[in-house]
Amino acid sequence: MSADQAQRIAELIEPLRVEPGSKVRLGKDFDPRYKADGLKKKHGRELLQTGITLLADYQRRLAAQNTYGVLLCLQALDAGGKDGTIRHVMSGVNPQGVQVSGFKVPSSEELDHDYLWRYACRLPSRGGIGIFNRSHYEEVLVVRVHQENLDRQRLPESAKRGDLWERRYREINDWERYLTSNGFKIVKLFLNLSKEEQRTRFLKRIDVPDRNWKFSAADVRERKYWDDYQKAFSEVLSATSTEWAPWYVIPADRKWFARICAAAVLAHTLIDIDPQYPTVSDERRLDLLAVRSELEDEAPKGAERDPYAAEHRSKKGKE
Ligand code: AMP
Ligand code: MG
Repeated sequence: MSADQAQRIAELIEPLRVEPGSKVRLGKDFDPRYKADGLKKKHGRELLQTGITLLADYQRRLAAQNTYGVLLCLQALDAGGKDGTIRHVMSGVNPQGVQVSGFKVPSSEELDHDYLWRYACRLPSRGGIGIFNRSHYEEVLVVRVHQENLDRQRLPESAKRGDLWERRYREINDWERYLTSNGFKIVKLFLNLSKEEQRTRFLKRIDVPDRNWKFSAADVRERKYWDDYQKAFSEVLSATSTEWAPWYVIPADRKWFARICAAAVLAHTLIDIDPQYPTVSDERRLDLLAVRSELEDEAPKGAERDPYAAEHRSKKGKE
């Protein structure tokens, strides 16, 4: 990873970051059709491939250490492209190091706990990447837009008094701060789709038979609450973009650009962690050398003493 590459990633994502403390008005401040100046889809494909390779390398290093973990939270309105983003951005990484969790309407068991419980149960371990397909932010989005969700939450009267949403923002910020200071970096992406692009994608789900399974009449009904969601998202972005876990608003109308941005934000976080392969002590190195000579002595007649080293030498010679 060159310093130049890291710089380019930082520059690409800078306009997408929600400045902590700033007041966001989604419709005015972030354009779902925005893309980096001069970037074409053809070039975009190569760039995404570079990003995917970079992520694969960093994920291997992350998995080799056991201090840091990464949590990627994906939020979007229906048809915003969460599934496709996960599929493409993570296509190069070792599945063993990644755990994807989706969150739907809470079950009865989940409602028997505090509202952050089910998310806490799915957090990544050190060395891992956890992906939340929808996240704890649903608790201040869909639950806010449809208050009947809140009624089902079995809260004590005292928890409903005062400004419940302000309190939840604070609790979420505190929870994320706690996780961050304990080694878990949080990456928060909002895939920002326009209403017209959502209409087009819903129609595609009807028009293309292979996509019919993705179509949900409930999603179309939910579209009626578009303005309420825009307002709820604007508040969430304003109140919960923090120094320790900032939000990035990803322009989502062009899927190819959204995927590049998502990969870039994740890469930026991993570059920042800079996970290293553990190195061995001099003493351990001496042990390894002793074992090597034992294994070399076991070479059958006519075989190389160390076939790996021999092959490596001959490859080097050809270069
Ligand atoms: P999907 O991701 O499209 O399969 O749908 C999942 C549904 O679950 C969406 O309509 C979400 O709004 C809903 N959902 C997710 N989290 C919650 C929550 N905490 N309370 C109520 N509904 C939720
Ligand atoms: Mg849905």
